[in-house]
Formats: sequence, structure tokens, C-alpha cells
Amino acid sequence: MSKHLNMSIRVPIEIDNPSIMRDDTTCINCGMCKNVCTDYIGVHDTYSLENTNDTAVCVNCGQCAIVCPVASITAKYDYKQVEKSVLDSDKIVIFTTSPAVRVSLGEEFGMEAGSFEQGKMVGLIRALGADYVLDTNFAADLTIMEEASELISRITNKDKPLPQFTSCCPAWVKYAETYHPELRPNLSTAKSPIGMQGPTIKTYFAEKMNIDPTKIINVAVTPCTAKKFEILRPEMNAAGEHTNNPDMRDMDYVITTRELAKWAKESQISFDNLDNSEYDNFMGESSGAGTIFANSGGVMEAALRTAYEFITGEKPPELLYELSPVRGLTEVKDATVIIGDLKINVAVIYGTKSATKVIEQLKTGDKKYHFIEVMACPGGCIGGGGQPKGENDVRAKRIDSLYSRDKNMAVRQSNDNTQINALYAEFYGKPLSELAEKFLHTTYRNRSGDLGGAKMGTIPTDGLKYRCTVCGYIHNGELPEGYTCLICQQPVSVFEKI
Ligand code: SF4
Repeated sequence: MSKHLNMSIRVPIEIDNPSIMRDDTTCINCGMCKNVCTDYIGVHDTYSLENTNDTAVCVNCGQCAIVCPVASITAKYDYKQVEKSVLDSDKIVIFTTSPAVRVSLGEEFGMEAGSFEQGKMVGLIRALGADYVLDTNFAADLTIMEEASELISRITNKDKPLPQFTSCCPAWVKYAETYHPELRPNLSTAKSPIGMQGPTIKTYFAEKMNIDPTKIINVAVTPCTAKKFEILRPEMNAAGEHTNNPDMRDMDYVITTRELAKWAKESQISFDNLDNSEYDNFMGESSGAGTIFANSGGVMEAALRTAYEFITGEKPPELLYELSPVRGLTEVKDATVIIGDLKINVAVIYGTKSATKVIEQLKTGDKKYHFIEVMACPGGCIGGGGQPKGENDVRAKRIDSLYSRDKNMAVRQSNDNTQINALYAEFYGKPLSELAEKFLHTTYRNRSGDLGGAKMGTIPTDGLKYRCTVCGYIHNGELPEGYTCLICQQPVSVFEKI
């Protein structure tokens, strides 16, 4: 007998899922989790529990937690362990905050959607007891240095296949490993920003600050539930290998934007009354390119700014500081950019189910791309599974907030970040150096076996679906007589076929 409810009711979630959990006592079996996982993520209806030894398939994106109307599904909370570390005088707790958190945290305290609250966010983390607060935007700049260099190498040296897919979204990476394992050589080997930040803190930063790396507790504050899975990947222990501390993890904890707000509220900290605070200076500098990482299209735009200068030796044209074709809330976008003698075709996708559609088209169509960005969440990380809830109107405001920050920054290219250049001069040497490859790059595995023999790389055929025109709930299959909407209790007559 299965330990899960029937898959026609809701998504199954394993007890040991590191990213999300369900409180069964509050679940109303509405099926919203199943709908988003089927229609948008493209996972739920691709396998059966009979074939997977009763094991749920999950890419850890947390979109089910976002749509759950009764908060029965939430992120798996790790902030209590972080709190314990903060109270342990033997530990040095270093927080590092992702770009999306600063434009959404305020919403948890009643502020307008998209409010840019970097100062209060840093102040809050200091009030909660951080020893250092660093900026993941710094690491986003580092990711761009490596990823843009890799792209140029693929194009000019033809050493790896094109298109190059981005790899900074761990939900997309796991999805690709599961559904498109043949694309592993196409995935950029560059780790995500927090994947690079962790080992850099426990080596370079620790040495500069004269800190024993084994005393460091690295905490990433992110919009993302999938990062909780990512930091557990066995290969995320580059610093431990380098310093001969095999049990030391590069990043110790991930807490989401909503967890940070929950911790603040439980600690009775008044967000409104917090003073603005600055990041610690060392590893605290970042560019506008790092800032826009959280938006769908942001990684692509950031990488092209740097690739342009690396290829031509000149500053990019204005177009690359506002690459509008790849911006905004459209699931699949593309553009062609001329860099020197090269004509580079790029695509930007959010939603893994949409990624599969594009991948299928690539196999049959004429269009060839050099570089494809994929993010699992709607609008990119600003719509992450650990973010405050909100629809596209809210997401659009977060997106605008980050673009306007980028526009007003003096440094807008990752390769102009002076602290990144110092990091290369003093530690990594140059992008794609031997040490950079060891610390900042990774490998991928074939997870197709997780599906238990289902046909890989295919899009499931959609069945009959009806949408409730009142609340948006989607019902799979025919509507029985006398049926009422599971969410708003409206009758069959308000449903439309989709
Ligand atoms: Fe995490 Fe961003 Fe990917 Fe969502 S889009 S799963 S928030 S990395």
C-alpha cells in the first residue's frame, strides 16, 4: 500500500525532502499543488508511484508551497538550526543574501510589493546575531565571470557543445538531469552563485579574516527552496576537500525569505524600526549585472555584458544595458545579439515544462541557439518557492525594482567589480583556471532512473481540464454532475474548458 495519497489528488512529498514539507492536518486536498506541478513544472504526471517504488519525484522548486491556499505545504524550516549556531559563541555565522530577497522581504511586513529594502534586510540579519553579512550579488558576478568565459570557449574553441544552458537554478538542473540527461554536456559547469560563495568564504575570506574555516557556519538567505537541496549535493564540499576537512560543507544552511521574516516576527523585531545597515565591505561589492540575476533574463543579460567586453575588448553598447527582448513576464523569449564578428542567438525560459517544449523544438526546428537561460520559477527567482506569495502584478514590481537598481548603479558589469578582480588576482588566477575549475565548477548526473522507466524527454499529453472562472482552480477530467469548486465552492456552471 502506498504511503502517499493517490496522485490524482495531490503531489506526493517525501518525509526526507530537504526543501518542502506538508502538514497533513491542514491539507484540504484541493489539488492546486498537483496542477502547478503538472501544468507549469512538468513533473507530476510524468511518472507513477508504482514504477518509482512509491518514491515521489520532485525538483524542489517549491511552487506547490506558493500555490497551496492553506499553507499546508511550506518550505522545510532550517532557521531554528541557524538560530542555534548564532547562539553558539564558538561559531562564526556568515549570512549571504540573494538578490531577490531585498525586493520581497518588505512585503512580509506590510510594505508595498517590490520595495527595495536592502538596508533594513541587512540590519535585520545583524539584529538576529550575524557575525558577517555578505552579498550573494558578489558571487553572482563571480558566476558571470566563469559562465561567460565558458560560453566564449564553447563558441571559439568548440570544446563543448552548444547551446550552453545556464546552471544557476538547481530546480532546472535537477529537472534536466531527470528528463534530459542527454543535455548534461550542454549545461554550464559553472556553479550557482551560492555554490561559488560557499567555498570562497571558507578559503579566501577565512584566510583574509584569519578565521578557522571549521568554525564558519555559512547561511544563504534565498528566495529558493531548491537551494536547500543544492547545498546537499555531495560535490558541494570543495573547501572541505581543499583544506582536508572532508565533513565540512561549502554552505551549511539555506533559509528562505519567508523563513527570515518568520524568524524576525518570532524574535519580535520590528522591521519598520530597523536602521539601514551596510554589507560587510570585504566580499560585499557587486555590480548591476549581479543585481538583475534574480529576474528571468537577468543572468543572460549579465553574461552578455561581460562576454561582449571579453570578446571585443570594448564596452558593450547601450542595448546590452537594457536587453528588453529577454526581459519581462513571458515564459519564452529570445534575441539575437551581434558581438564583434559573432551573431549570438539567445533564449530565456522560465517554467521547466516550457523548457521541455523548447528543447523538443530544438531537435526538430531550424533555429539554433548559442545560449539558453532556464529558471524554474515564474519571472525567475523573484517568483521563487520561498518568496512571499504573489501573482504576476507583484512579480512585475519586484522585477522593476531590481532593474531600476541596476540602472542607478555606477558599476553594471561583473568584470568591473574591483573585489572580483582582486579575488582573481589574489586567489583564483583567472576564469577557468585550474583552481577556479576545482572550486567554482561542477558535474552533473543522470537521474532519469528516478522516473522508474517512464519515457524520458517527452511532454505528457494533456487531458481534459476545466478552470474555475471565479478562483482559477483547475480541475482535471470531466466535471461530474453536482460538482462544486474545491476552493471557492462555486457550481459547475462557472467552469470553462481549457
Ligand atoms: Fe530557485 Fe530561482 Fe530556480 Fe526558483 S528560479 S528554483 S528561486 S534558483
